[in-house]
Amino acid sequence: MKKYFDIEKIRENITSITDPTGVRAFLIEGKSRAALVDTCCGIGNIKELMQTLTTLPLTVICTHGHVDHAGGAYGFEDIYLNEKDFEVVKGHTTIEKRMGFGRDCGFDCTEDDMIPQKTDVYKPLKDGDVFDLGGITLECIEMTGHTPGMTSILIREIKTLILSDACNPFTYMFLPESSSLETLKASLNRLLSGKYDFDTVWISHGDYLVPKTVIDDVIECCDEILNGTDDKVPFESMGRLAYVAHRQGENGRLDGKCGNVVYPRDIKRNAG
Ligand SMILES: [Zn+2]
Repeated sequence: MKKYFDIEKIRENITSITDPTGVRAFLIEGKSRAALVDTCCGIGNIKELMQTLTTLPLTVICTHGHVDHAGGAYGFEDIYLNEKDFEVVKGHTTIEKRMGFGRDCGFDCTEDDMIPQKTDVYKPLKDGDVFDLGGITLECIEMTGHTPGMTSILIREIKTLILSDACNPFTYMFLPESSSLETLKASLNRLLSGKYDFDTVWISHGDYLVPKTVIDDVIECCDEILNGTDDKVPFESMGRLAYVAHRQGENGRLDGKCGNVVYPRDIKRNAG
């Protein structure tokens, strides 16, 4: 049988699952229930994998509707997604889209590697929803920006926030479904308002552990972009032209900061 997933126990009750495209999902086990945060791309069957990893009743939470987060949703029954991403997820989880994404990421996939698309409904996830797993509590925080329904997950007891794609060292904000930078900034400022208690942040791509300052960096990037003082490095992906706010080398931003933003070339900047 082909091996699709890399499994890593990152804490006593948390397992990281990485698929062939390099995206991560997190399995979090409490005393009475388990939650899977994201489902990878649907290259290989993550639902069957779950049956080998936990015997607890399982709830699945998709942080947003993108191909690499909701693509593996087929077969799960107790599965949540923010309603604002219900349109996004339809186009993002077709077999064609997932195969294209897999190949773009360097995985030579065929139809045999793909599980079917989930076509039945998701349960609507809302800002402030709480999942009690028994000794572990997950709180959902709506983070509109990268997508309209983007949601980050706070694991309260360990003060850890799974940002997913809401904010990271290469925050994609140039997609058709991305919101304005003002909206992203408002979401990020809310995270830092003191309402949420966290000291550690995890993301979904590359090394999952990044400095919490990634949030401040991305807020700063939004301001620089809107004021026209960023580096404006030309970038192209998926046939879309964009700019990257700060110059990067192989190890991230040249100035040593962590967060960065990729945004559309036709963005409206502040007058002045
Ligand atoms: Zn995404």
